[in-house]
Amino acid sequence: MTSHNSDFLIIGAGIFGLTIANAILETGATVKIIEAQHVGAGASGGILGALMPHMPNNWNPKKQFQFEALRDLSDFVATLEKETGLATGYRRVGRIMPVVKNGFLKQMQTYAKHAQVNWGSSYDFKLEEMDFFDSWLQSSAENPLLGLLYDTLSARIHPKSYLEALKRKFMSKGGELIVNALVTDIDPNQNFIMLENGEKIGAEKIILTAGVQSFRFLEMLHMPDLGGGVFGQAIKLSSQNDCSKFPIIYDNGCYIIAHDDGTISIGSSSVNIANGDIDPKKDRLLKQDDEKQASLLQQAKCLCPSLESAEIISSWSGVRPKAWARDPLLGYHPNYDNLYVATGGFKIAFGIAHKVADYVVHDLGLALRNETIIPDSFLMNHHLNP
Ligand SMILES: Cc1cc2nc3c(=O)[nH]c(=O)nc-3n(C[C@H](O)[C@H](O)[C@H](O)COP(=O)(O)OP(=O)(O)OC[C@H]3O[C@@H](n4cnc5c(N)ncnc54)[C@H](O)[C@@H]3O)c2cc1C
Repeated sequence: MTSHNSDFLIIGAGIFGLTIANAILETGATVKIIEAQHVGAGASGGILGALMPHMPNNWNPKKQFQFEALRDLSDFVATLEKETGLATGYRRVGRIMPVVKNGFLKQMQTYAKHAQVNWGSSYDFKLEEMDFFDSWLQSSAENPLLGLLYDTLSARIHPKSYLEALKRKFMSKGGELIVNALVTDIDPNQNFIMLENGEKIGAEKIILTAGVQSFRFLEMLHMPDLGGGVFGQAIKLSSQNDCSKFPIIYDNGCYIIAHDDGTISIGSSSVNIANGDIDPKKDRLLKQDDEKQASLLQQAKCLCPSLESAEIISSWSGVRPKAWARDPLLGYHPNYDNLYVATGGFKIAFGIAHKVADYVVHDLGLALRNETIIPDSFLMNHHLNP
């Protein structure tokens, strides 16, 4: 039996699915989310939550979009926290990057000038000699610190808490969430999706926010191969001290993020994986690589000697959705005006999802006016003709 009882049906309850679902509900339309496992079962259920800007040089529409999204996220989460009574673990803590090479020092001095122009006067990107961080950061005889690059735009959020707040808002506004329901097929001709148990569920429009699985669905719907996954691992450590106000530390692909709950997250490894290797049911259970995890931990301890005694509480892995054209992928399937796709958040999804959702609502024809300027490189057309 097929029931067409909601305006929108969203496949996948990750950060993209939930933010878009809430933004649609606010317009008065009805929304149902169908999720294979549970909220945050995909890449969004992680432990890092870094909200870090792109470098302020070579400014382009994508950097402008991300800058505005990061700037506005504090207000977005403050409203969400007020509405739901749940904390998201958001804090604009800033980020420090140790500078050990002269070349990098010169580059950063130039970038600081770009930041003044492109970020405006509210956020700094500056070189500091910050005694405060001495015990946090390593400065060895071989690699003496030439300085610290400090930006005050970066923030962090607790991914699971953020999702929980978005879920609570969705439920309280009348949204319907169906979990443990694996979508096996989408029929955009007849506006329904098919579940593993044979049930069909219809809606006026279907929105595909199934993370890395979205690319597989698009191929099933006769589109070219537009993206894949990047497997990543992260580790959560205990901490003896309250480091929750400390900035993110970032160096050479390794981030150290102290959260409000007293834990410290370390990320992340990156390994490209072919679509064929992704289990449609359990993509985050791909085999963990213990060696990669150990080298990540080693890198973090070198950067930050005070982590030496910290114990591993847990480790986590997931698959980031990445379009081959690199940027997020938003827009209608070229052959169906009732099937919309939003995926490809790759490494920046948490910082931009709320602004992506604003744009999607407008693109779906639900918003009266739209002030969100979307970079062309995010649009379906660009991905089809990069
Ligand atoms: C190790 C690691 C570290 C990261 N660190 C950060 C970071 O610090 N900051 C940041 O912004 N981003 C980070 N990311 C990236 C970020 O997590 C992802 O870009 C983001 O979570 C993608 O969100 P999504 O909603 O598009 O997909 P997902 O979160 O993967 O959600 C897709 C959902 O769809 C469901 N689904 C899939 N197939 C089906 C189906 N057939 N039927 C029904 N449901 C289905 C899945 O179960 C899942 O819940 C990291 C990723 C990893 C792996």
